Amino acid sequence: MAIYIPKPEPIEVYQWLKNGDIPGDGVINNINSGAIVGRHPSYNDFTGAQHCPNCGVAMGKHGILLKMIVPDPSIVPNRVICPGDWVRFHRDHKKRILNYSIVLAKDLHERYVDLATLPMPLTEKSL
Ligand SMILES: [Zn+2]
Repeated sequence: MAIYIPKPEPIEVYQWLKNGDIPGDGVINNINSGAIVGRHPSYNDFTGAQHCPNCGVAMGKHGILLKMIVPDPSIVPNRVICPGDWVRFHRDHKKRILNYSIVLAKDLHERYVDLATLPMPLTEKSL
């Protein structure tokens, strides 16, 4: 008998703290809203002062993941990004971006290991 475990799958993530933090967002001097992560609809609105039930930060400081392809239309995904959450880039073998998704800040360190912190760092090629 042999026992196998799956190879780890590296993911590419970028932490979102404020408008314009995601590469390719196209934000210039914080004037416009990001193309990938846009400002929350409550930005500059009186409702933006309400506190998020998940993180406690004002809703006006949150983002919305605008570019997300959902394969199953019956699924309504969470698109609200709390400051500190991560945006995952899904790429094909030619490094073209296929999709984006949200990795919650609390889930990132529970489910993933930072390659740079490993004693013998793995490279993307060695996986
Ligand atoms: Zn929040």
